[in-house]
Amino acid sequence: MDKTKQEHFRPIIQKRVRDLQEQLSESAEDAKAISPDRGIGRLSRLDSMQMQQMTLDAQNRRKHEMQRLKEALTRIEKGAYGICQLCRNDIAVERLEYQPDVLTCVSCAGGRR
Ligand SMILES: [Zn+2]
Repeated sequence: MDKTKQEHFRPIIQKRVRDLQEQLSESAEDAKAISPDRGIGRLSRLDSMQMQQMTLDAQNRRKHEMQRLKEALTRIEKGAYGICQLCRNDIAVERLEYQPDVLTCVSCAGGRR
């Protein structure tokens, strides 16, 4: 994959990282431990614990995605971006547009279905 194509994805990935950072800081409040006086009954406390768990799960997913996106940026720096980790062929641009942190081409990913 040529440098121009790789550079095309840099701002896309950077924007995605910024979006994720925003979402993470916005939901940081929700992810904080529930105070003991929150919710009167047992059910509402369970509800808020479930909510907290969902928020934590979402936070973790965002952190993982951010990690993968940062690795993708490193690959752009090294000129290794957009190359399938398994067969070393170029990954289709449409596939990268859809999922910029993807590591394999369609045929290699398809083999694992
Ligand atoms: Zn491949």
